[in-house]
Amino acid sequence: MEEDRLREEICELGRSIFERGLTHGSTGNISARCPDGWLLTPTGSNLGRLDPARLSKLDWSGRLLAGDQPSKESFLHLAMYQERQRNGAVIHLHATHSVAISVLEGLDPNDLLPPLTAYYVMRIGRLPLVPYYAPGDLGLAEAVRGYAGRHHALLLANHGPVVGGSSLAAAADAIEELEATAKLYLLLQGQRVRPLTPAQLADVKRRYPEG
Ligand SMILES: [Zn+2]
Repeated sequence: MEEDRLREEICELGRSIFERGLTHGSTGNISARCPDGWLLTPTGSNLGRLDPARLSKLDWSGRLLAGDQPSKESFLHLAMYQERQRNGAVIHLHATHSVAISVLEGLDPNDLLPPLTAYYVMRIGRLPLVPYYAPGDLGLAEAVRGYAGRHHALLLANHGPVVGGSSLAAAADAIEELEATAKLYLLLQGQRVRPLTPAQLADVKRRYPEG
C-alpha cells in the first residue's frame, strides 16, 4: 500500500539524514503527501529513531487524523503543500552549513548563494531568505506562503532550510545539494572564486528547465 511504503521511506530517510549529521537532536522534520492526507514526523522525535506506525497523519487543514502529535513546525509543511500542489514531499532541517548561511551578513536575500556548480543550479536554482520569526510565531507560515509559490527551496533566517520536491527522494536530493553547496561556499570564503558564467548558467537552465 502506498501509505505503508511512504511510512517506511520517511523513517529510512530520517535515519540516513540523522546518521550523516544533517540535523541534530530532535530537530528537523520530514513529510510526504499520501492518497488521503499527509504524513509528518511527530513532535520531539529524533529523525534517527522514527517508528513508521507512530508518524502523524494529518488532513489538509492540518488536523491530526492518526498517530503521535505532529511536529510544531507542521505549518511550514502545510504552507508548502498548499502553495505547491505538485510537491509530494517536504523536508526541513537544521543543517549546520545552511544555518550558517542563514546568519551571514551581506548576502542578497533574494538569491543567497552563487551558482558554484551545475547541480546546485539544477536542484535549487535561486534560494531566498525568509525573514526571522521566533519559534511558534505563526507569522512564519504566512511568510513561507509568500515565497513557496515561486520557490521550492527556502532558507529561514537564523533557523534552517525548507525544501519541497516531487517525491521524498527528490526533496532529499535537493536539500542535501543545498547543504553541500553551503559548505562549499563557506570553505571558499576569502578565496578567489569562479562561479558559473552567465552563459554557462543559461545553458544549464536551458537543458534542465525544471531546475
Ligand atoms: Zn526548524
